[in-house]
Amino acid sequence: MRLYTHPACLRHDPGTGHPESPARLRAVLEALDDPRFAQLDRVEAPRVTREQLLRVHEPAYVEYVYANAPQNGSLRLDPDTVMSPASLEAAERAAGAVCAAVDAVMGNETTRAFCAVRPPGHHATPNAAMGFCIFNGIAAGAAHALEAHGLERVAILDPDVHHGNGTQDIFRREPRVLYLSSHQMPLYPGTGARNERGVGNIVNVPLPPQSGSHEFRAAWDDTLFPALDDFRPQLLLVSAGFDAHRLDPLAQLQVEAEDYAWITRRLCELANRYAQGRVVSVLEGGYSLEALRECAAAHVAALL
Ligand SMILES: [Zn+2]
Repeated sequence: MRLYTHPACLRHDPGTGHPESPARLRAVLEALDDPRFAQLDRVEAPRVTREQLLRVHEPAYVEYVYANAPQNGSLRLDPDTVMSPASLEAAERAAGAVCAAVDAVMGNETTRAFCAVRPPGHHATPNAAMGFCIFNGIAAGAAHALEAHGLERVAILDPDVHHGNGTQDIFRREPRVLYLSSHQMPLYPGTGARNERGVGNIVNVPLPPQSGSHEFRAAWDDTLFPALDDFRPQLLLVSAGFDAHRLDPLAQLQVEAEDYAWITRRLCELANRYAQGRVVSVLEGGYSLEALRECAAAHVAALL
């Protein structure tokens, strides 16, 4: 199994006190720096290509980000999303990691991959940064699987506590991509109602605040995994946000690290059944350092 990361992802600095801090990725990498993860094949994440980005983002948006990325100081892309001088490279490496991981699993170089990168991506829409996200890496990875590898069915599983509005928006008319999300509602960004179905390729299960292990597992067992069974994906991509954990300061679900281990084991079984075991997971949210350490270790241990 591969672990994709890059030092640039640690240098992206949205500012003092911002919840999406470099300490998040440090916590994840520290948790994976343990003898039980010695067999991880550690790979430097490449930069995303312009072609890969333009499959999911509008040219004017991509040009705006490249033309205005700050050399010094900072640039605010939306009320929550700030670029520092290292941010463009971090965003390129974060999205590039997912595309490279897709190449690796499709080329049978490995079966599973985890991309320990930031900034996250699932709120980034075709034409805008949103919610700490600059480029939508998981969407770029899914589009890369369709266009560069000719896949016909790619599933994106998104257990991040926030709805992945950007990913949904990018694929809402794309029947080759199934988007599955459990998320707290009401909560940022406000999308993800059950009646948002795309062309039948989107399944949302909103959960009320204070929902815990039982409700989280029921959402996946009763609704989301059955939809995945019907779809029979050739590749599984995971928006691994660990902010549904009970310690997370930005949300109010009561999910435990063991629930992340559980969902990972279940999705690996489904990947083995339909997708020759192929799973590419990418870090999204998670704002408690303690929860990040615990959940990332549980997730990667289950992938292994
Ligand atoms: Zn989140």
